[in-house]
Amino acid sequence: MARIVMKFGGTSVGDCDRIKNVARRVKAEVDRGNEVAVVVSAMSGVTNQLVDYCKQIAPLHDAREYDTVVSTGEQVTIGLLSMALQELGVQARSWMGWQVPILTDGAHGKARIETIETGELERRMSGGQVAVVAGFQGLGPDNRVTTLGRGGSDTSAVALAAALKADRCDIYTDVDGVYTTDPRIVAKARKLDKITYEEMLELASLGAKVLQTRSVEMAMKHRVRVQVLSSFVDVPGTLVCDEEEIVEKELVSGIAYSRDEAKITLVRVADRPGVAAAIFGPLADANVNVDMIVQNVSEDGKHTDLTFTVGKADLDRATKVLSEKQASLGYERLVPDSNVVKISVIGVGMRSHAGVAQKMFSTLAEKAINIQVITTSEIKVSVLVAEEYTELALRALHSAYGLDA
Ligand code: ASP
Ligand code: MG
Repeated sequence: MARIVMKFGGTSVGDCDRIKNVARRVKAEVDRGNEVAVVVSAMSGVTNQLVDYCKQIAPLHDAREYDTVVSTGEQVTIGLLSMALQELGVQARSWMGWQVPILTDGAHGKARIETIETGELERRMSGGQVAVVAGFQGLGPDNRVTTLGRGGSDTSAVALAAALKADRCDIYTDVDGVYTTDPRIVAKARKLDKITYEEMLELASLGAKVLQTRSVEMAMKHRVRVQVLSSFVDVPGTLVCDEEEIVEKELVSGIAYSRDEAKITLVRVADRPGVAAAIFGPLADANVNVDMIVQNVSEDGKHTDLTFTVGKADLDRATKVLSEKQASLGYERLVPDSNVVKISVIGVGMRSHAGVAQKMFSTLAEKAINIQVITTSEIKVSVLVAEEYTELALRALHSAYGLDA
């Protein structure tokens, strides 16, 4: 007997037939003799609609009331799924976040789970009752409903699996696993059987929208084995797990891309102590996240060019902040460029093997793709190139690292 947390996202519970389909999948786990808790999202589109209502009533709304509104989508699905399970003869009951309780901090709209008191849930689960828990929501220290940020029910599921010391957390979604790269762009992309937490974290934060980034951080911290699989087709998914569980490690596991970044170059910035602080300080104050940064050596010892990337959505704000400070920063020109894509190769194998970055550079060179900015971490090499090369670069790199199916 195992203890399993199953999570179903919005498309998996998108209508009543799909909810019945979910109930059949849950029943199958119960029939195998497992103890099961299920976490569900709102039906697809519902949360968007609720967010939109809030915006229509008040563009700058009270975050506590926002949570009151947007948390309701999940209440509908837990009730419906519990009914569907009962229809199949499976004992089940629904749990709102506050009923469990799932306790969070007070950051309404983006709360973090602090503790989950699982006593009552476990008592009932061991008696054969399926716990159907609302994702995305919790109870704040102000005794009010909180929500965890968009996509937060992944985090609810992983947190619940950690609290229940579950053997596995199965995340059912509309894709059947984690791929070596985006299969819509690279037809030869392959589904991975296993991927490490570290790699998944990089993929998730680079925009592979399979799992919410925070849920991967949580899984890594508590060593929760997470399986990503399809709720529509019956094939094995991808297991996100510890490095030790992966016998045949690839040098590179995946190639990710992000079109969400934009590049800013400051031409002829004074090359003296304190300049970087003077540039990035005001950006941080304006809540602009900076990702890649390169600074050149100055030719004359007095001036240098500085290039960095920010989120595309922040480009205008960043430009405005820096333009206002042009006189004090003393740069000559600001050149914004949103026609860029960040491409990253990811793999824990590169910790112990040299040459991964070199292969990336030579592959792009063969295709005559110019690299504008480079950054690396222990398990990742990222380059910034012109956006029109996205497809060409992804396909070439996918072959170069031997990832083609
Ligand atoms: N229903 C919430 C959302 O749409 C939470 C989730 O689906 O994970 O963001
Ligand atoms: Mg989701």
